[in-house]
Amino acid sequence: MPEIHDYLIIGSGAGGAMAAHQLVVQGKRVLLLEKGSELPDDGSTLDATLVAGGHFNSKEVWNNARGASFMPEEHFNLGGKTRWYGAALLRNDPAEFRADPALGLCAWPFDYAEFEPYYREAEQLIGVHTFAIEADLQRLAVDLGKHGWQTQPLQLGLSPEIVEHLNEATHFDGYALPKGLKSDAKFRLLDPLKASENLTLVMNATVRDLLPSGENPTEVVGVRCTDGREYFARHILVAAGAMHSPRLLQRYFLSTGLSEHLPAAQIAGRNFKRHILTAVIGFGWRIKRDVLCKTRLFLHSDFPHSSSQPLGGWADRETIRFLLPGWLPKWLVEFFALRAYGFFLQTEDGSHADNRVIGESGDGSLPTLDYHAERRPELAREHRAMVFSFMSAMLSAGLVPFKQTIGLSGMAHCGGTLMTGNDPATSVVDAQGKVHGMQNIYVVDGSVLPRLGRMNPALSIYAWALRVTQGLLANR
Ligand SMILES: Cc1cc2nc3c(=O)[nH]c(=O)nc-3n(C[C@H](O)[C@H](O)[C@H](O)COP(=O)(O)OP(=O)(O)OC[C@H]3O[C@@H](n4cnc5c(N)ncnc54)[C@H](O)[C@@H]3O)c2cc1C
Repeated sequence: MPEIHDYLIIGSGAGGAMAAHQLVVQGKRVLLLEKGSELPDDGSTLDATLVAGGHFNSKEVWNNARGASFMPEEHFNLGGKTRWYGAALLRNDPAEFRADPALGLCAWPFDYAEFEPYYREAEQLIGVHTFAIEADLQRLAVDLGKHGWQTQPLQLGLSPEIVEHLNEATHFDGYALPKGLKSDAKFRLLDPLKASENLTLVMNATVRDLLPSGENPTEVVGVRCTDGREYFARHILVAAGAMHSPRLLQRYFLSTGLSEHLPAAQIAGRNFKRHILTAVIGFGWRIKRDVLCKTRLFLHSDFPHSSSQPLGGWADRETIRFLLPGWLPKWLVEFFALRAYGFFLQTEDGSHADNRVIGESGDGSLPTLDYHAERRPELAREHRAMVFSFMSAMLSAGLVPFKQTIGLSGMAHCGGTLMTGNDPATSVVDAQGKVHGMQNIYVVDGSVLPRLGRMNPALSIYAWALRVTQGLLANR
């Protein structure tokens, strides 16, 4: 007889790790399957050449809407994308839980007040701190403030001791830290469970198929991996990330015939959204001295769906090289790198049913991301206006700004492909995280996000996973 676990979780990123943590500390037996393995702790994840060269990125090839192949910047490793994230752990505003149909913004199935306790608990579990503003940013904030750009402290998932470790303090954003000075899902949620007999962690396990109960396909009894291994559990929690979780469900709905009857099957993979992102680098004369740099968030009342934040460590030489023409001599790149102030500008994206992930069909075809920003042009307009405003303010502050739009492969902030909502005709999972019409399958990753809001999404994903698992525990 195969072992039957209480809970089986697919994926160990923000959502999967938080769900595993909650269930294990409450005494449940959990099997966590992760496609990737553990990242090396030999310092190579801080090597700018390896990181910027994509050494640690997924090599999975996709098609875009025009049939051209591309490689989304995904990370298949223990801890998922949180190992690489910039640790800005921010709540969405209460207004961002409500719908705005004119902009294609969908409502959460509950309001902010109901979600707030989970935000609070997630912040405590992950460990968020604010840091004092440093001198260069302080000077810049005063100048940008004259153009309506207001700042507020930025909550970071970093240990306060990080400031004593210069290499980590200047490389936490976009790099994986080997010493645990960044609060990522591996260090904060999974490592503390290492001694627990309740957690079975299997890495290099790529789930391919969900397995139906013989009598009734609305019950999933287990999973099969690409190498044929099978695992069984009473509850299945999907947390493979917004690009991958919908593919697992689509394949299941098709193979079991549920795609014919289940309204949720028609929605799975749709409403893909991603932050509209632009990197802006401003070059000044003064050599910068700030270390963390990413200590304040910039907001402007004219751009209510947008925010701007400094790049952690401002921007390293590799980023500068990427932005400047390749023929520039090394000494000039170095000259600019010492004087470069980097920012990440982001605007919320609306939902459109035709923007969607389409799983591979099994005949060797590639997965497809059918996404056209033009299907939702409204917020792209706000983004262009805010980039212009921010760059103009930088220019007035004495910095010469350059911008780089982040293309489709920039998957840092994506979601919505298994959206949560009360209506099975327009959403895939209910307010408790259960797939509409299914008995025992839940989604606990960024796929569920009905809105991205103007802030980075990881804290909302952690909080959602907490809410779903606590609901499951309360009902048993
Ligand atoms: C460079 C970078 C910077 C970022 N900065 C920030 C930031 O500052 N603040 C913020 O809030 N967010 C940030 N993000 C985004 C944040 O990391 C993600 O939103 C978050 O990690 C998504 O969580 P998730 O659980 O949905 O998916 P992931 O974290 O991607 O986890 C999914 C996991 O599932 C695994 N998996 C996939 N398919 C399978 C399968 N078939 N079988 C088994 N396992 C599978 C993957 O290997 C992965 O480990 C950043 C991301 C990047 C890349």
